[in-house]
Formats: sequence, structure tokens, C-alpha cells
Amino acid sequence: ASSTDGNTQPTPMMAQYLALKAEAQDCLLFYRMGDFFELFFDDAKMAAATLDIALTSRGEHGGAPIPMCGVPVHSAEGYLARLIKGGHRVAIAEQTETPAQAKARGGKTLVARAIVRYVTAGTLTEETLLDSRRDNMLVALAQVGGASENGGAGEIGIAAADISTGRFETMTCPIGDLPAELARLRPSETVVAEGSPLDLADCHPFDRAAFSSARAEEALKRLFGVATLDGFGQFGRAELAAMGGLIAYLDHAGKGTLPFLAPPLRKTSGGHVAIDAATRESLEIVATMAGARAGSLLGAIDRTVTGAGARLLGQDLSAPLMDLAGIEARLGLVQLFHDDSILRDQLRGALRALPDIGRALGRVAVGRGSPRDLGQLRDGLGEARLLRERLGRLSETPQLLLQLLPALDGHGALVDALARALVPAPPTETASGGYIADGYDAALDELRRMAGDGRRAIAALEAKYREQTGISSLKIRHNGVLGYHVEVPARAADALMAPDSGFTHRQTLAGVVRFNSIDLHEEAGRVAQAGAHALVAEAAHLEGLIEAVLDRKADIARAADALARLDVAAALAERAAEGGWQRPHFVADDSAGQCLDIVGGRHPVVEDALRKDGQPFVANDCRLNEADRLWLVTGPNMGGKSTFLRQNALIVILAQAGGYVPAQSARLTLVDRLFSRVGASDNLAKGRSTFMVEMVETAAILAQATPRSFVILDEVGRGTSTYDGLALAWAVVEAVHEVNRCRCLFATHYHELTRLAESLASLSLHHVRAREWKGDLILLHELSQGPADRSYGLAVARLAGLPPAVLKRAKDVLARLEAGKAKTGGIAAGLEDLPLFAAVAMPEEETIDPLRAAIDAIDADTLSPREALDQLYRLKQLA
Ligand code: ADP
Repeated sequence: ASSTDGNTQPTPMMAQYLALKAEAQDCLLFYRMGDFFELFFDDAKMAAATLDIALTSRGEHGGAPIPMCGVPVHSAEGYLARLIKGGHRVAIAEQTETPAQAKARGGKTLVARAIVRYVTAGTLTEETLLDSRRDNMLVALAQVGGASENGGAGEIGIAAADISTGRFETMTCPIGDLPAELARLRPSETVVAEGSPLDLADCHPFDRAAFSSARAEEALKRLFGVATLDGFGQFGRAELAAMGGLIAYLDHAGKGTLPFLAPPLRKTSGGHVAIDAATRESLEIVATMAGARAGSLLGAIDRTVTGAGARLLGQDLSAPLMDLAGIEARLGLVQLFHDDSILRDQLRGALRALPDIGRALGRVAVGRGSPRDLGQLRDGLGEARLLRERLGRLSETPQLLLQLLPALDGHGALVDALARALVPAPPTETASGGYIADGYDAALDELRRMAGDGRRAIAALEAKYREQTGISSLKIRHNGVLGYHVEVPARAADALMAPDSGFTHRQTLAGVVRFNSIDLHEEAGRVAQAGAHALVAEAAHLEGLIEAVLDRKADIARAADALARLDVAAALAERAAEGGWQRPHFVADDSAGQCLDIVGGRHPVVEDALRKDGQPFVANDCRLNEADRLWLVTGPNMGGKSTFLRQNALIVILAQAGGYVPAQSARLTLVDRLFSRVGASDNLAKGRSTFMVEMVETAAILAQATPRSFVILDEVGRGTSTYDGLALAWAVVEAVHEVNRCRCLFATHYHELTRLAESLASLSLHHVRAREWKGDLILLHELSQGPADRSYGLAVARLAGLPPAVLKRAKDVLARLEAGKAKTGGIAAGLEDLPLFAAVAMPEEETIDPLRAAIDAIDADTLSPREALDQLYRLKQLA
């Protein structure tokens, strides 16, 4: 199809391509041609590079060859996965008619094509393109009330959905909390209104009109078939606008086919522990800093046996609860499975065999459901029914279980229908049929019998022809081009070539010659017709079954959620039993203020890593309470300070997510906000302006931490010179102690900070123990009362393999420094008389004298006599 003259008219095909490409905009266009999806022009160059496939060319456009590459349709999914991972979005243009239909339509033979779907990171449902153990969130953001409305305090509406399962949630938050919420949701794709002032990386702009609260309300009512949204909660305008954008985007991506969405779950800002993005990163909750699941808290504790369970556990750890009843309900279920190991094993055994019915439903809902998906729903819902019976017989039923059990019930009729209709292991492909069970439909059975009779008749013909021709190697074969045919070796073909042989010649190949015969043609026709009718009948049944599934989609999703919750509870119980973990005890807030009282706490990730090396982990206590809220932890590098800080933060997360904790005991009051900051030099690898980042992040803590918060600060102040760093660390500790009054662990190598213990009543000193033995440093990783007696810096350096000569020299330098320090009183000399931070007026309480401020603002050197007089009048007015 090359254009004859170089630069005028494109060929009809190219014209069609260009029109589709214009529609696809910035998406790569997969243009279906027979058994291939072809890409052209820049799309082809981009795809060839990303996929490492050959870039060729086809015809000419505007006088230049058209770059082209292609991927086979049957293996397209793998290529799609790689393109999407590479950050691309793909439009799929299919042939919407057969060549025969195109011919019948008119003289032109170009088949019609249309974009049937957009494949983007946030709109996937294919099993092969998704990570079964992780949610795949699409997020839409909408902003109402920018700087002009309510004085700059803009609100953001967030709508988030995983269309592969139907999980759908919304929330409204202040614009400042957006990064934290996005860090929690970890979206695969984010959309905003075109021209939105939201300045975020990797945001996809989409039709502005779709982000309208009024349109959203209509779309939601239609989607859920309700007259009012009141039953789902009271949505704000921003939330509605975000939902509107989300639904419109899904509608666009699916070209009118909307996926299944569960009724939106409205999250409130205070519903879970506030954990900002920096804290999530530093605590490595669901992924390590490098982005891996292994090595994170989730990776270390995940014992779930289903994909849905793994996804839910990730959600739980990302959003620990703030309501005590919810936490206790989860803990009650964990305890049931913890205390009864036989029950736990049985449950986990049953769950392990369970297909991912949530994702199967997701595929069915977008019209890409296969017989295999229906088989999965049959098996999964059937298993749910058995579990329901088993768990319903327990003598003791925790409250959460009582809530979950009904969701497992009521699928009997659907399971029975699917069981009767489907073969035991239905295929993914429908093209060759065979997925509807025998005995389900008498007419289908009859068609199959006819096809079978035909095939047997054909087999009989083979025997008959062999006898008749005397050619024992004669065979009747079938292929896609010729259909059924008789095949004989070339040397024996002559007899069949004779005009009166009853055979007609069809094809001569290298070694064989192929023929047809009237009888064979007739039988083959019967087989083909019965087969075609059977396929149609099967397809009709499939459609009916899909409808039956979709009728119950909300109930199925609820069952999937309940099974996931059971899996998570049993998994947490399993992990607890493995490690001897304990159920945390929550103390009501009002009693004696806040506490975090952990005895024998451990760090699950570090402990795992050490165990692999055969090393024991040293458990440590953390006993914070109203009278002793801030622990200053000193001690040598590598002594275990960071590990101690983090393990306590992780224990809080686990406890409030409703899990057991790696400790002998844990008593705590609810934590409303969790902060973790690590001093700059640990972050050097990330190449940011580290000290600046450190200070910005520290400022956020001082602004946001409440008396109910828990803060860990690790070597804050390290990113700058000693004096600056010490001064900042000093001031931060004071502010946390006096103003935020939160529970806090502060690790530092500034020994001088230990003097703060003299002035801050609720601060106490601790250190990680070390011993020097025969010149070797032994780190005990054991926390002890009081300040560290010395820094052991040189011993650590020796441990690290610094050459002896350098160590010797360092020793001499140190001796001189210490002598000097003794004389002058050290770098913290003079701090004794420093008034306490709280005694220095705090900004909020500071009463600024307007007269004084006005005088300060005057720059006398630049005033004209006239201006000076004006100022004088103004000052008199203020006085
Ligand atoms: P620091 O923050 O004091 O420099 P880390 O907390 O980073 O020290 O710990 C350094 C290493 O010491 C860890 O990687 C781990 O191997 C080991 N470690 C830390 N805490 C413990 C502990 N409680 N028990 C055993 N080993 C520990």
C-alpha cells in the first residue's frame, strides 16, 4: 500500500490510520492488521526502542518511508505490559468488520477500524499485566476553593479506584496533606482536570468539564442505580468533582464500558494515622527506599496466602486505624486464629486454593471475562460457602467474624448454576468452545453428538478409502485452509488423479498430494455446521452466565473482601505464632496521659536479616509515658540506635493496623500522627539538597505533631556543621519537649545534648551499650539508662578497617582536641545558662508590639523630610 506520488494524498489506509491516531492523541496507537498490531511513525520508533523489536518501514508518506513495527496479537499482552511499565499509554484500534463485510459494504475493501479501548497503567484488568499482590490504583484529583476562596486554604478531592477489583474510595483533604495521601495510595496513574493548577509530577490532564460535581452526581446515581447518593455519605464538592473525573476517565478508557465499582467508601482525614510521605519512605512500610517489597515491613510480615489478602494487608499497613473499636475488632479475629492453630491451618489451607474472585469479577465486569474467570468465581464462591459453614460452627465467634460471615453466604444459586453449566477446568479462550458442560443443554448436546458422529463418519471414510485405493498410508487430515482432506504420498497419488476416481485434486506439496471427495465434503460440512451452531449456543450460555454474575457483582465483591479479611487475620496470627509476638493493649486516653510502653521490642525486618546470618537480635524496651516522654538515645555508630527508633514506630503501625507486635508486651494509647526523620547524610545517596530537605521535614513535625503523636528523630542536625547542627538539634529537642509534647525518640551523636536532661523534666537519657575488649569494639545493641560514656568513633573506624597508621594519627589528634575541650569547656560550653526554650517567647504567644514593629520597619536613611513627618504622625496614631 505505497503511495504513488510522494507528497500529496495519503493512501486510504494511511488516512484511516492518521484519523485514529489523531483521536488517540498522546497514546501509542496499536493498529490491528490481521494477526498483528502495527505501530507507525514516532509510535513505531518509541515502541521499537522500548520493546527492543525490529523497526522496519512500510510505504511512504509525504515522500518519506513510514517507520513501522508490529507485535503479534496473540502475544500482545506481554508487549503492552512493557510499554505501560515504560510509562506509555496505548490505544487499541481493532478491525470492526471482516474483509467480507467490508466488500459487501461497497467498492472499497479497507476494513473499518475503531479504537475500542485505551490501556493505561491505572485501567488494567488483565491478570498478566497486574501484580496479584498489589492494588492498582487510579486516582483523580480535583481542587475547589483555590487561593481566591477561603483565604488560600484550598481543599483537594481525591477519588481512587482499583478497577481490577472494584475498590473505590474518596476523601477530601487540605492541599497540604495531598502528598501524604498519594504516598498512602501509591497510584499507578493520576488524572487531573486540564489546566488544573495542581503541580504534580506524572499527572495526566483530562477533560476539564468532566470534573464537575453536578455531572458527577448524575453519573454516580446512574452507575449505582440510586436516586440519591445520601446512602453512601455526604460528599463534598471537591470529592464529587474528583469522582466525576474518575468515572469520565474510565468511561473514556473503556470506550463506554464502565468497570465494576463498589459503592464509594468515604475516608475521613482523621480516620487513620497521619503518616507523611517522608515518614513512609523512611520507615519502609510497604516498600523499601529502593521501591522493593522485599525488605519492607510488609515484606517481612506478609504470610497471606491469597493475592487479595496481600493487597488488603498492604492497605492496612498503609493506613493504621485511629478508632479503638475497629482495631480491637481486628485483633479479636487475629487472636481467634492465633490461639487455635488447627483452625488457622485449615483456614489457610482452604484459602490457599482460592482463586482471586475479586479480579475475576473485575474482568467479567469490563467485558473481558473468560470461561476460566467464571470457573474461578464458581470455585471461589463455592469455597466461601464451605468456609461459612466451618466458621459458623465455632463455639466462640469474635464480633468481626460475625460481620464477615454473612458476606460468604447467599451465593449458592449462582455457584450451582455455574457448576452445572461449566466444565471443571474452563479455558481462557472461547474460540474453540468446549467450556459448557455436557448435559447442561440438550440442544447443545445434540449438536455435539452430530459433530461427533460426523467425525466418526470421517474416520470411517479413511478406512474405507484405504481399502478402496489400496494405499495404506492414506490419511484424512484437517487444517485451517483446506478443512478436511485426503492426503496420500506423492508416489501413490496417480490412482486418485484419474478423472473417475471419485477424488478431486486440491493441492500438491513436496511429498504429498491432497484431495477432496464428495462424501468427505458432505460429512465435513455436517461437522462444521454442527460445530458452528454449538459455538453459538455456548456463547449464548456464556453471556447468560456473565449476566447472572453481574447481577450479583456487589455481593461477590463483598465476599471477596471478607475472604481477604480472613486471610489477613490468619496471616497476622501465623506471623505472630512464628515469632512469639503478642497482642498489644490499648489504654484509654483519658487515664494518665499518653504512653508507649513496649517491653522486649524487636525490629521484624532487621531480626529477619540477622537470623539469616545466624545472629541473635537483642530485644529492647521503650517505656514512654507522660513523665518521661522524650528519650535521647546516644551511643556509637552501628550501635543500634536507628533500629531501636524504627522498631517502635513499626510496632505502633502493626498495633494500630490490628496486628500482634514483635514484643513481649505492648501498652499504648492511640497515636494520631507518626513522624520519622533521618538526618541528612543517610540520604546522601538520593542526591537531594539534603540539609534543606531535613530542615523542611523537621519543620513539618514541629508544626503538626500533637501530644498524641509519636515522633522518631534520627541524627537530625547532622547535615550541617557541628555548631549549626548541635544548635538546631538542641532547639528541636526543646521544642518537641515543650511545645509539641509528643512521645519522641531522638537519636544523636551530639553528646552535648545530654545536658538537656538537666533542664527538661520529661526527657531522659539512654544509650546503646558497647564495650572495648583488647582494643576491639563490641557493640551490644542493648539499650541502657543514662548517657553513653564515650563515642567510640575511633573503635568504629577500626572495625571498618581504617589503616592502623591513620588510626594512630587520629588518636593523637583526638587527645589534643580533648585536652583543648577540657580547658574551654567543650563545644557546649556556655549552654548552662541558656534560658529554657519555653521561657523564650513562642511565636504563637508572642505579643508583637505594633508601635515597636512600625519603628523597626522604618529605614531612616531613605526617608525624605516629608515622609519622615508622615511616619511621625502614623507612629503617634499607633501609640
Ligand atoms: P546506629 O543507628 O546506631 O548507627 P543501626 O541501628 O543502624 O545503628 O544498627 C546497625 C546494625 O547493628 C544493624 O544493621 C544490625 O545489623 C545491628 N543491630 C542493630 N540493632 C540490633 C539489635 N537490637 N540486636 C542485634 N543487632 C542489632
